[in-house]
Amino acid sequence: MNNKPKLDAARLSRMVEISRALNSITNLDDLLSHIIKEAADLTQAEAASILLLDPRTHQLHFKASSNQIPSQMAEIMVSLDDSIAGAILRANKPMYIQDVTRDPRWNPQVGQVINFDTRQILGVPMRNVNQEPVGVLEALNKVDAAHFSVQDLETLAVLADIAGVAVEKARLFTELEQANATLSELDEVKSNFISIASHELRTPLAVIMGYVSFLREDADETVAEQFDTVLDAAVHLRGLIQDMANLSYVDAGQTTLLRQMVDLAALVREMELASDETAVAKNQTITLTLPAEPLTVVVDRSMIEVVLGNLLNNAVKFTPQNGRIAIIVERQGREAWFRIQDTGCGIAEDQLERIFSRFYQVESPLARQHEGMGLGLSIAKELVELNHGRIWAESARQAGSEFIVALPLAGDRG
Ligand code: ADP
Repeated sequence: MNNKPKLDAARLSRMVEISRALNSITNLDDLLSHIIKEAADLTQAEAASILLLDPRTHQLHFKASSNQIPSQMAEIMVSLDDSIAGAILRANKPMYIQDVTRDPRWNPQVGQVINFDTRQILGVPMRNVNQEPVGVLEALNKVDAAHFSVQDLETLAVLADIAGVAVEKARLFTELEQANATLSELDEVKSNFISIASHELRTPLAVIMGYVSFLREDADETVAEQFDTVLDAAVHLRGLIQDMANLSYVDAGQTTLLRQMVDLAALVREMELASDETAVAKNQTITLTLPAEPLTVVVDRSMIEVVLGNLLNNAVKFTPQNGRIAIIVERQGREAWFRIQDTGCGIAEDQLERIFSRFYQVESPLARQHEGMGLGLSIAKELVELNHGRIWAESARQAGSEFIVALPLAGDRG
């Protein structure tokens, strides 16, 4: 080897270019082929190859080679104990074998498989960010000179350093992609399950409700009361199933969105929120304050109906007998606001955001006094946001709660 130290300016700027290129490749196989191509070019070698350490078996295997890696080569496992690559990895430092035939660790099997005659090996360890060796980069047979130079070795070592980190990054990227794909699959399985379950539960429930209502008509008073209890339970079940169905509606998101011009004041009037059966049964008063002018918003009407329905259900549920619920629709700047205030149990300051998360409930599951699945508000939030609006809650503890939905007025979006 001649003794010229360190990289010259030309090689250095080439290295910077390579480093930039390697950092932008996230596919491991593409990255490895790029590295070996550069390794062979930079050191003027006949070929180059990369062996990576399998962390489970503690063996090395060929991952890439500049002379068209045949599939048999990828299957060859190289032991750490009796191979040149293994010795480089174990020592965690570069090695130059000038004549492999004289090295007892040399294993001619690979050369035979790919019909390549290896004479010299210049090998350097590839390290991860913690400086632990994760593989070996080898340049084989110097072209146009008798031997590899010190500069070749330094170039290869710098390349291996950049490559080691890039390989680890690409591996992490692949793992992250796989984890993401698994999560999406799980999410889809869950959404499909909820959608199928809510659909399948609806039909038998409709049959039960139909027959019970029919039988109740002819029943005498004492039996009628028992039928009423069955009907109440069935109505409750229908609400839960509706929540599940709405959840799959939200997950379908943009695909089902059907926007149209809607007068929010008229929509609230038509929904007849003030005559809610449960509120009547609890002797609650619901007042409506609607504006004289129409407040036109561009929204998916049925989505907004679900939102307002969920907010009213909660207000009725969390407000005691004889309580009051006020619904106000008004213009606020360039927005139409729907406000619903109740005289119920209120919400603590630190819960005001969290109640909008899926399955979140303020009461602990073991000591709950109210029924529900903790889905209504998260569904409401997602539906409002799909319609470019905002929803939030305000509450002074003990003085009840207020929920506000703000939707941009038509012509004022953006
Ligand atoms: P669910 O009502 O099915 O439990 P929601 O997502 O609709 O689920 O509501 C989440 C939680 O927010 C409720 O469990 C309750 O603790 C709280 N909450 C919602 N609306 C009100 C309200 N009007 N007054 C007091 N607490 C409320």
